[in-house]
Amino acid sequence: MPIGTIHWLPWRAGRGRPLRLTRLGLQLAGFFVALLMCLLVGGAYLYGREVGRMQGFSGAGRSSAVLEAELCQLRARTDELTGRLIEIAEREQRILTAGAGLNMDFSGLFPGIDAPADPDAGLFEYIDGLDLQLLLAERLAEAELAAYDSLASHFLRITEQLRRVPSIWPAEGYYVSDFGPRIDPFTGAVRYHEGIDIAERTGTPIYSPADGTVVFCGWSSGYGLTVIVRHTPRLSTRFAHCSSICVNVGQSVQRGDLVARMGMTGRAVGPHLHYEVLVDGVQVDPDDFIIRSGFNAAVF
Ligand SMILES: [Zn+2]
Repeated sequence: MPIGTIHWLPWRAGRGRPLRLTRLGLQLAGFFVALLMCLLVGGAYLYGREVGRMQGFSGAGRSSAVLEAELCQLRARTDELTGRLIEIAEREQRILTAGAGLNMDFSGLFPGIDAPADPDAGLFEYIDGLDLQLLLAERLAEAELAAYDSLASHFLRITEQLRRVPSIWPAEGYYVSDFGPRIDPFTGAVRYHEGIDIAERTGTPIYSPADGTVVFCGWSSGYGLTVIVRHTPRLSTRFAHCSSICVNVGQSVQRGDLVARMGMTGRAVGPHLHYEVLVDGVQVDPDDFIIRSGFNAAVF
């Protein structure tokens, strides 16, 4: 049954037909309006979701391409770093073997790596290969550090040994007498000269030709005022005919330290230094220990 009437009033003249409203009619109209709204809202939602999905796909594609490009760059840098490490290891091995007599082989630390050349072939395999390459490079770098430490301590030891070799002239002056047989200035007979003589004015400084410890200071018959420095358990030097002594027994001296001054005490005909090098207590030619730079020039 009708529940109301809607009257239509046209703009132009004429009679409009009244529209009768029933409860069923209103319910049907409401249903269709609600259905239309649902369709509109649902369609808008599905459209939005599809657009979002398409945009997401294209973003992921871009991210993947950037990631692959960066991985390739990382691989190139790792290759370069690895190459340099291997080059350093090879050079160091030559120094260790030839220079220091140490036999160290790094080749086993860096086996060939079969990392995929292209990340497209398998991104995770590519990353695994890169990871392994970096791991081996780290191992090689650690081995390098250990080798450098060995090399440093080796050369430190050599330097320490070299500082205990009497390799410089102990005094300035005139080289007046060699080591070996010569005519004795006192007797005129042939006598073995057990050192070398360097002549200069009385008071001329006498320096220790190497690091060591003073083991004797004092008078020693024909040697006069004498200093003996022990450089190693087997190697020592003697400085004779001094006018004065500048060190004490037990004192440590370094190469170039003043130990005495030149004189003519003991069996001497003029002011000079009688200089001896002794190995296991036996005199040897001091000249054999002196390092020269250029013609007959001593170096510190
Ligand atoms: Zn002499």
